[in-house]
Amino acid sequence: MSLSDIRHWVFDMDGTLTIAVLDFAAIRQALDIPPEDDILTHLAALPAAEAAAKHAWLLEHERELALGSRPAPGAVELVRDLAQRGYRLGILTRNARELAHITLEAIGLADCFAIDDVLGRDDAPPKPHPGGLLKLAEAWEVTPGAMVMVGDYRFDLDCGRAAGTRTVLVNLPENPWPELADWHAADCGALQKMI
Ligand SMILES: [Mg+2]
Repeated sequence: MSLSDIRHWVFDMDGTLTIAVLDFAAIRQALDIPPEDDILTHLAALPAAEAAAKHAWLLEHERELALGSRPAPGAVELVRDLAQRGYRLGILTRNARELAHITLEAIGLADCFAIDDVLGRDDAPPKPHPGGLLKLAEAWEVTPGAMVMVGDYRFDLDCGRAAGTRTVLVNLPENPWPELADWHAADCGALQKMI
């Protein structure tokens, strides 16, 4: 199947459709999380009260960033092109769903995604777990092989591989994971030229 035949597209949000602004090092420092730990995994293992307080801090911090989101190069044009073709479009993000909606509003793409097709960290197990993609496949009544997952990080590609979708890596000049990415584009503008 060539990329131009695919009519079901799922996007990572931060760093894929937006310019990366989350400063993970600063977040780890503020929440006293070791540099080598995954943030969400670390928080999940804390006592409930501490986890709740730190989740609240994270949400507030992310809300400020969401309001100031800027689109990644070519992202608005690509998504609008796909939406105009009548394709089904989804978001699978480790961010919170409400912040995903704020972010999509901020970059002017909220109308391109059905509300139920925007999956945040409380709607599906975090990537690289394939649960979110499988949930969209079921909702869209397609096989994962007819879908593509677009992202800027290996979790996105691992997630696609685990679910059985095709995968696209964007926004990295080189492709460090050729075995995980079916296609690689410098950015969403270059990706639009491939469809
Ligand atoms: Mg990302």
